[in-house]
Amino acid sequence: MTAEYAQRLTRVPQSFIREILQVTLDPSVISFAGGLPNAATFPVTELAEATQKVYQSQGKGALQYSTTRGLPELRQHIATDLKQRSGLDVTADDILITSGSQQGLDLIGKVFLNRDDPVAMERPGYLGAIQALSVYEPNLMAIPLDEQGLEVQALDLMLNHAAPKLLYTVPSYQNPSGISYSEARRREVADRLKNEDIVLIEDDPYGQLRYDGDEPTLLKSLLPDKTVLLGSFSKTVAPGLRLGWICAERDILDKLALVKQATDLHTSTLNQQILLQYLTDNNLDSHLQQVKAVYRQQRDTMIDALECYFPKDVHFTRPQGGMFLWITLPQGVSSLELFGLAIKEKVAFVPGTPFYVDGGGENCLRLNFSNADPNRIDQGIRILSECLVRIGQDGNTTTELY
Ligand code: PMP
Repeated sequence: MTAEYAQRLTRVPQSFIREILQVTLDPSVISFAGGLPNAATFPVTELAEATQKVYQSQGKGALQYSTTRGLPELRQHIATDLKQRSGLDVTADDILITSGSQQGLDLIGKVFLNRDDPVAMERPGYLGAIQALSVYEPNLMAIPLDEQGLEVQALDLMLNHAAPKLLYTVPSYQNPSGISYSEARRREVADRLKNEDIVLIEDDPYGQLRYDGDEPTLLKSLLPDKTVLLGSFSKTVAPGLRLGWICAERDILDKLALVKQATDLHTSTLNQQILLQYLTDNNLDSHLQQVKAVYRQQRDTMIDALECYFPKDVHFTRPQGGMFLWITLPQGVSSLELFGLAIKEKVAFVPGTPFYVDGGGENCLRLNFSNADPNRIDQGIRILSECLVRIGQDGNTTTELY
């Protein structure tokens, strides 16, 4: 039979990442493609101990249904941490636990978006947000990023001409560019938005992965009523737990909780209990110090290798945190063509175009530095630079992907 699928599916882009993850299942491929944290950093022993304790102390309760908003003690833990870290005046009642921050994006789409609603996001922007929001058929528009963050003039133009209902941002160590908004830019953006009828989405899964520079100010603290802040334990503890959270003004949070209930009733009781036990018994900050030491070294290795092997007319960002850096090749050099050559040499990355909702990015690419050890990073960048030289020489290389 031929199934008749919903119209909305035609607006959801196929994820290039999904195709690429297939390629990277081959362990001989050096992958700078996915956005995977380094599994060597996962606190396996501590989580195993926490799991045992949960079964001992909670018994069957850990396997029962629980409330949509999430375990009160876990929400309290998140609120206290937010207050200490960012000075936000929030309590457990301001937090909704989600099944990863990706679910947060879906719930936001469900709560706010009607078909063709104008939504602004960064250019380049997070692929998962493009995908999650596209299900609700908005008119996605992009505001370019420069090294300091969202370009304010372009933001002004967008606010004046398109009146976006939502603005989706990743201000700290952005996926895919690695850019972090400067303090001045954060204030400028907040200033532009303060009198607008708009909801600001601040997606912050990387905020705690800071390798240099000062602690960034959350946009949520500059625009508390308008900002919906998304957080995640995927990069700080482990993504397989599927645990994230939303912090928003109470009325918005009520709506998000309502649609979460309709979506999956609640996030796994067991996983929430395990995470709470883990956070109670361990010092997350000292765990993060270890994770950051690993990623800082991998970032430095990647930057050193790019400086050593790549031609000087290739531009790349120097992220102060997070898991990605962004490369801009000279105009006219195709990152898709580079991908075709690199994958034959068993090196993978994500070409730029899927990160652009309005076209562009043909000469750009995203590199992930969290998931390969320094030796393989150095080797992979050297191979990429050799492929780049070949593009320059051949002029007629293949664009086959595999
Ligand atoms: N937002 C951004 C910017 C991300 O990079 C990711 C993960 N790649 C997510 C959200 C989703 O994270 P999770 O659902 O694992 O919390």
